[in-house]
Amino acid sequence: MNLKISALEYVEQVKNGNISAEDFVSATIDRIKNVDDKLHAFLQVNSKAVEQAAQVDKKVKSGEKVGSCFGMPISIKDNICIKHSKTTCASKMLENFVAPYDATVISKLKEQDAVFIGKANLDEFAMGLTTEFSAYGPSRNPWNTDYVPGGSSGGSAVSVSAFECVASLGSDTGGSVRNPASFCSTVGYKPTYGLISRYGLISYANSIEQIGPITRTVKDTAFMLNILSGLDSHDNTTIDNENVDYLSGIEAGIEGKKIGIIQEMIGEGIDHTVLSATNDAVSKLEGLGAICEPISIDMVKYSVASYYTITATEAGSNLARYDNLRYGYDFPVEGFEFNSYISKARTKFGPEVIRRMILGGFVPSSGHAGKYFLKSLKVKSKLTREVTEAFKKYDFLVAPTVPILPFKIGEKIDDPVALFQVDINTVMSNLTGVPSISVPYAISNGLPIGIQLLAKQNDDKSLLQAAHALETTVNLPEVPI
Ligand code: GLN
Repeated sequence: MNLKISALEYVEQVKNGNISAEDFVSATIDRIKNVDDKLHAFLQVNSKAVEQAAQVDKKVKSGEKVGSCFGMPISIKDNICIKHSKTTCASKMLENFVAPYDATVISKLKEQDAVFIGKANLDEFAMGLTTEFSAYGPSRNPWNTDYVPGGSSGGSAVSVSAFECVASLGSDTGGSVRNPASFCSTVGYKPTYGLISRYGLISYANSIEQIGPITRTVKDTAFMLNILSGLDSHDNTTIDNENVDYLSGIEAGIEGKKIGIIQEMIGEGIDHTVLSATNDAVSKLEGLGAICEPISIDMVKYSVASYYTITATEAGSNLARYDNLRYGYDFPVEGFEFNSYISKARTKFGPEVIRRMILGGFVPSSGHAGKYFLKSLKVKSKLTREVTEAFKKYDFLVAPTVPILPFKIGEKIDDPVALFQVDINTVMSNLTGVPSISVPYAISNGLPIGIQLLAKQNDDKSLLQAAHALETTVNLPEVPI
């Protein structure tokens, strides 16, 4: 069974009876058994997946209406709720939490006959960018297992890259879909804020985060967006995209489009191979008829500080609910008074979550808010104004997704500030709500480099057209695992 096919190819093959969903899913499970000991993309694998795929085959054979996924195996980041399944956020705090309902994205995929192959590993509560902060151990990069796969949706990107599923869902608060997509050579998409419902996504910083697909091709991302996007009465921040078809016209090209190259994202600290890949991508875009020019977005230099201040504040409030009364783990109350019980129970969080909690308690507190939290909101507004201005002149912006190559597991874990800085190119689109995509572009010394394209809010369809155009210029080797 050839597992190295795109989502669209999978659909065609099952539709035409060339392969059965059952055989494909069963081969996928075998693949997971063979490689996941080395990669650790999964926290759980769905033991009923093959059975569920067989049900879809029955529908196909009997001529019943079949959903557009045709039993496609999809992995789901373990901070998205699937009813009656464990949803741990890779935290010991939620070790035994069983979701009582489906996230909207899950209901939509179920309606389309997707098969959830397993729950993918992540940094605890999606805080991180290496997957090393998972309480259940890191995932590993399939291009070189000594290296981090990126994060926080590391398990998702690994599973797509290593053919342990056809597509995946991650979440992106400050780069968590695009960063691992870039590090693992997959496509990663952060939609316009509100395009995809967050209902059933366990919140980290809800004012800026989105669920996003991780796929093998840009067309597959468009296919997923067709299923996932749209208004949801459970999430008041969702927008009505009037059932835009993201796949139709995806080959429109970028002839005559204007693209700004963000100078602050290719400056100090950038790896030289990432810089040359970016320059090369720019010439390819020009070759396709686009007009590329440098642009400066001044507030980028404060964006990481602003991002971490805002997200820590929101996380402080969102994670206050884990008091071990309503959610939690087995920890007897005897011998504690109320407050000390909760404080003690919360030491179950890992070091990165605790760091964010401490920061999130401090930066918005009275006496300090003006200096940190409110100032960060000002940076966010100013950045948004600059980006809005930029899109008056340019159709798209371009930059490397991550300024450096994947690094070794353990290499940066003890330097949180250095780690934060790696997010410099991804946080802008979250802070401003604009869509952005990481397209696999090059392999340097066996390690992947992704190029990021951004468009203005609600211009997701054109962004996919531009990303598809860039993708057609690329020819990458196969993942060595
Ligand atoms: N690295 C960022 C953080 O740790 C992004 C995480 C994310 O997008 N969920 O907050």
